[in-house]
Amino acid sequence: MHSAIQAALDRQVELERDIDRLCLAKFAAACGACRGKCCRANHSSLTIESWWLRNVSMRAHGKWWPDDWQGHAGCAAQGPAGCVLKAGRPTYCWSWLCEPLLAECADCWQVIFYVFISELPAEIAQLTPTTDLLQLDEADVAANLPLIARRLEEAHGLLAEARTLIDPAAGQLDKHRAALHLLCRMPRILHGLARQAILDRIAGGQV
Ligand code: SF4
Ligand code: SF4
Repeated sequence: MHSAIQAALDRQVELERDIDRLCLAKFAAACGACRGKCCRANHSSLTIESWWLRNVSMRAHGKWWPDDWQGHAGCAAQGPAGCVLKAGRPTYCWSWLCEPLLAECADCWQVIFYVFISELPAEIAQLTPTTDLLQLDEADVAANLPLIARRLEEAHGLLAEARTLIDPAAGQLDKHRAALHLLCRMPRILHGLARQAILDRIAGGQV
């Protein structure tokens, strides 16, 4: 495999590991109590059959799936303590923010931050309106590599900016600026659940 492709895969691993750490720090207890109720058996086939996701997860974990994964009743990545994948999960598996988790967000900034990180992997996978990174084979990944690398660097930059929202030392003006930029850059953040959670925090003065 070309070293530039390996470098891009590693940047995706770093991004997902960062997102995973941030999610765990905030939501591990709530998700643990729920025991992965939103995991689905077909998600392992998405991970293993997508060239990009398979290679991201292999960079992070080596070959993690059992040879008989197709005979498993649930997702092959589901371990006793939750998902074994720190990177290379299907993007659906990051878009998890449910009502119990949103209830853990103390203010409007936290809502925007956690919805943002939950949608970031899906956002970067949609390279163009018609090109989905998760559908590409190795030759197509090579052909689109400059765009993929740009999207990954942009994602790392956006994540660094988004951290302003959960930084206790950051000022209100900086939080407003970061939130406005993220909402304009990624309108997908404003799905129904997130909109309601933001409106509730504004009504309650938690801004
Ligand atoms: S994301 Fe929500 S529904 Fe899914 S396991 Fe966590 S708490 Fe449960
Ligand atoms: S990849 Fe992980 S998060 Fe996704 S369904 Fe499987 S165990 Fe659950």
